Amino acid sequence: MPISSRTTGAPGAFLVFRCLFVSRCFVLSGLIAAVPASTAENNVNNIKDFTERANVTNLWQPEPPIVTPGLDGRAPSDAIVLFDGSKTAPDDGLLEWESVSGGPAKWQVADGVMTVVPQTGDIRTKREFSDIQLHLEWRSPRDVQGEGQSRGNSGVFLMERYEVQVLDSFDNLTYANGQAASVYKQHIPLVNASLGPGAWQTYDIFFTAPRFGDTGRVIQSASISVLHNGVLVQNHVTIQGPTTYIGAPSYVPHDAAPIRLQDHNNPVSFRNIWVRVL
Ligand code: MG
Repeated sequence: MPISSRTTGAPGAFLVFRCLFVSRCFVLSGLIAAVPASTAENNVNNIKDFTERANVTNLWQPEPPIVTPGLDGRAPSDAIVLFDGSKTAPDDGLLEWESVSGGPAKWQVADGVMTVVPQTGDIRTKREFSDIQLHLEWRSPRDVQGEGQSRGNSGVFLMERYEVQVLDSFDNLTYANGQAASVYKQHIPLVNASLGPGAWQTYDIFFTAPRFGDTGRVIQSASISVLHNGVLVQNHVTIQGPTTYIGAPSYVPHDAAPIRLQDHNNPVSFRNIWVRVL
């Protein structure tokens, strides 16, 4: 991109900020600090050397940390692994989790998979999170039972409050803002990317926590994007408040909080869960 179009309309202070990271621009930054943008642009354009002009807009800091990506959905090197199935003993496999009602998580762990044991209650992470990237894989029962909301229902609650629905939505009609990958009762997924019963499915969730002011008033609502089996189904939508079954949601101030998985009386399974703190 030509230097002229990169700097068009940029205030002098902006150019100074950028120049601070380019040693050869310290002299230039001093020259343009106190002049209007148009004059600063003229000064940049007055630099005869093409490379030096281009360097004005090069940022060298902060240098992104090195992360080794995972393969096939496995955790990147900077992720916290919440469940990877590598430990098959029940207690070991759910070390990162606890029952919402207190005590150890009571879900079944076998063959690298954890499965809801109906009536044992929701489970949640022992750690608390705010802004995150979350990857998980889930599977509704191959043996199809029930219809609508009663078929392969579970859920991923960010901060224990904001549910991304887990449901067998393969040839299973229900209200659209309650199907798989909906932000429950708030946002219909853009498409239905569901696989059939018994197939492993992926969610990749990018979540920004709400911000609250000193008086408790929400000053920035939570927002979320979701990939379902690699397909974008929630595109940076605004969350209106905690998930409610009936009525309009309303924010109540809170701090960082666990990720919660729902026991909705269906034996839904999970594996390969990891999170990156943003
Ligand atoms: Mg649910």
